[in-house]
Amino acid sequence: MAGAFSLQIVSPEGNVLKEEVEFVILPGEAGELGILPHHTALISGLKIGVIRYTLNSTVKRAAVAGGFVEVVDNSAIVLAETAELSEDIDIARAMEAKERAQKRLAALSSDTDVQRAELALRRAIARLSAAGEKK
Ligand code: ATP
Repeated sequence: MAGAFSLQIVSPEGNVLKEEVEFVILPGEAGELGILPHHTALISGLKIGVIRYTLNSTVKRAAVAGGFVEVVDNSAIVLAETAELSEDIDIARAMEAKERAQKRLAALSSDTDVQRAELALRRAIARLSAAGEKK
């Protein structure tokens, strides 16, 4: 193993993950951020998306709905608005959220909050993708 570093994911619900990982790819605001051990320090905003991390040579996934990542002293700390590990994602709930948002966007009226529906749709798609479901 080429080395490892600490990946911690924290959401308002509490600690989602704390593991020694070999690699992580995060949905940075300016594009995907790949972090290897001993990465230089950085702070970045995160978009809605999927975090992929390599743990004991296995790629794992988590959904994240925005927040920040700080990389410092061989550790990456994600402060997420919401975050779920793939195995904790309720697929039926995410599918319902996706359908609800799609219906709202398809039946636009003057009271549709388009931005809210689009964000809900993107969260649902990220959860389904992290859970390994087809979008
Ligand atoms: P929904 O309409 O299903 O509530 P949402 O995108 O509006 O979806 P959020 O406001 O992003 O939900 O999240 C609220 C809380 O529920 C967070 O703690 C989040 O981690 C959790 N959560 C949302 N959807 C799921 C899911 N499909 N599986 C597991 N946890 C979820």
